[in-house]
Amino acid sequence: MAGFAEKIRLFVAADLGENAEIPLAREQAHYLSTVMRRQPGDRLRVFNGRDGEWVAEIVAADKRGGTLCLLSHARPQAAPPDVWLAFAPLKKARTDFVAEKACEMGCRRLIPVLTRYTNAERVNTARLGAHAIEAAEQCGLLNVPEVAAPQSLDAFLADLGPRQVMFCDESGAGAPAAAALKQAPPGPWAVLIGPEGGFSPEEAARLRAHPGSHAVSLGPRILRADTAAVAALTVWQTLLGDWERGPQDQGAPG
Ligand code: SAH
Repeated sequence: MAGFAEKIRLFVAADLGENAEIPLAREQAHYLSTVMRRQPGDRLRVFNGRDGEWVAEIVAADKRGGTLCLLSHARPQAAPPDVWLAFAPLKKARTDFVAEKACEMGCRRLIPVLTRYTNAERVNTARLGAHAIEAAEQCGLLNVPEVAAPQSLDAFLADLGPRQVMFCDESGAGAPAAAALKQAPPGPWAVLIGPEGGFSPEEAARLRAHPGSHAVSLGPRILRADTAAVAALTVWQTLLGDWERGPQDQGAPG
């Protein structure tokens, strides 16, 4: 059953190394023992976003807590392409969807940006982080994007430094996304998606004027913001990211 049991993957905070003993969070121990009915001696895989993926053995696990022991290094750590997703927070379920998909799409950082027409009042960054972790565990990823505290559009632009930004502009004034990115420099990028109400005219003007900003269109249809996030990241990963590599090639440094 070892091969089957290793299909379980858990994200842990601890440093990973030969023979390390890893404490399990209460929910993880409960998941392994009660939900998945795993026993001491059963194996799984763990990762922490820094030290690659390791095969681990359950030393003890019950609903109150537990410990793993690391057996062997299974995959080296890979760095995903340096792209951030900045998005105006939406209603809860759609924001959760964006966090999950940003992780699957290989973002390094997820930034809730509060724009003029943003409706959501509060952003639960811990919950977004948990969704990203779950997506990484499920999809065999080695990285979990960092979830930044919500910030204003001005603060976001100030934080960009020399980073290029793919400004997803629903007004239609931008160049088609693929054509724009083909001409654009590689290196660190951010993708920016507006709220369901779109960007205000002043915001759009400021974004167009920002150095390193590339106003792009995602086609003739207005997409909902969560769809736009996935679509924009697809184009970015195809043209400037790592989509020339296949699913078995996650171990190589990016
Ligand atoms: N209420 C606005 C639409 C906002 S859609 C309107 O009717 O015009 C939410 C966000 O998704 C936008 O701010 C933009 O960042 C992105 N988006 C959606 N469709 C897009 C498109 N066709 N091109 C570029 N960006 C788009």
